Amino acid sequence: MKKHKEILSRFGINKTQFRTDLLSLFFDCKSSLTIHEIFERFNKKTNKVTIYRALKSFEQKGLIHQVPDKNNLKKYSLCNLDSCSPDSHNHQHGHFICYSCDQTFCLDDSTIKILKTSSGHIVKNYNLILEGYCTDCNSSQTISQN
Ligand SMILES: [Zn+2]
Ligand SMILES: [Zn+2]
Ligand SMILES: [Zn+2]
Repeated sequence: MKKHKEILSRFGINKTQFRTDLLSLFFDCKSSLTIHEIFERFNKKTNKVTIYRALKSFEQKGLIHQVPDKNNLKKYSLCNLDSCSPDSHNHQHGHFICYSCDQTFCLDDSTIKILKTSSGHIVKNYNLILEGYCTDCNSSQTISQN
């Protein structure tokens, strides 16, 4: 995974095999990962302290951020690696939680732009959570109804 190693060096993170695998896991999942899912994936060969430390480092450097979870579990999503960096790690996007599969998805920042133009307030933080059915669950619902 040459690409993932390049990303780790760009963000100033040690390129251990585990951290490369952890980054791949985030790239492979289409939404977000709970800390429990990450433990399940690595627990056999990597201890929890190493996992916690890597997540903390990823979070501080602008690779991942915490996202809201339906069950209030600690959950992370990959940042937009074109806009987040170790120096600037700000998010102005909302999150979408699916009723059916419980996944949390990052929304793009288009909604916040609308808010900015309709008021004179300077928005620094954004905690909007939208709920409903994600694309996958919505399409399987439509199929089962037919
Ligand atoms: Zn970020
Ligand atoms: Zn869903
Ligand atoms: Zn997000």
